[in-house]
Amino acid sequence: MNTELNITEIFYSLQGEAREVGLPTVFIRLTGCPLRCSYCDTEYAFKGNNLMSIDAIMADVKQYNTRYICVTGGEPLAQINCHILLDSLAKEGYLVSLETSGSIAIDEVNPSVSIVMDVKTPSSQESTQNLYDNISKLEEKDQLKFVIGSREDYDWSVDIMDQYPTKAGVLFSPVFDQITPTQLADWIIESRLNVRMQMQMHKLLWGDEKGK
Ligand code: SF4
Repeated sequence: MNTELNITEIFYSLQGEAREVGLPTVFIRLTGCPLRCSYCDTEYAFKGNNLMSIDAIMADVKQYNTRYICVTGGEPLAQINCHILLDSLAKEGYLVSLETSGSIAIDEVNPSVSIVMDVKTPSSQESTQNLYDNISKLEEKDQLKFVIGSREDYDWSVDIMDQYPTKAGVLFSPVFDQITPTQLADWIIESRLNVRMQMQMHKLLWGDEKGK
């Protein structure tokens, strides 16, 4: 069996988002994504040809002194061998999170992995790609993320939350440069919405610097 993955980068930094924000984490960024979101900040991961064996990835990860691993992209699940990587990491006892676009089925993801799944909002221009069946499969350990670029996105996201209940924690995040964080915070408070607002801490610290 071919157990290689196309990898854009492996780096060590602080988790900038979601429940593990601020924790030192190894990021494994897989190459390739079938989507083209308007606000994408990882276009450099769309293409590449850096094949690594699962063994080599595991050895690379081991050198860092952390149990937290984030498998991200691109869209990690676009490579079928991603599941072998997730299984290997879980078997070694790492606390693994998976960042996924929500456009690929999550049924086969290792059950110990914490999934952080997007719902693509209208301003992403990829909302037709959402696989809504995924939402009911998320569990309490998982998180569902709406990236909000306008009031239309906000109202649309509230409707989706009503239509598709989930056990996962819900995150609302502003699109950098499209709405201010204060606008989003005010809308959440006015609506009495039961979500967690988050800002991308790594962007506040390092801007768009690659590998941070
Ligand atoms: S799913 Fe993620 S990596 Fe793919 S285009 Fe959208 S933001 Fe970029």
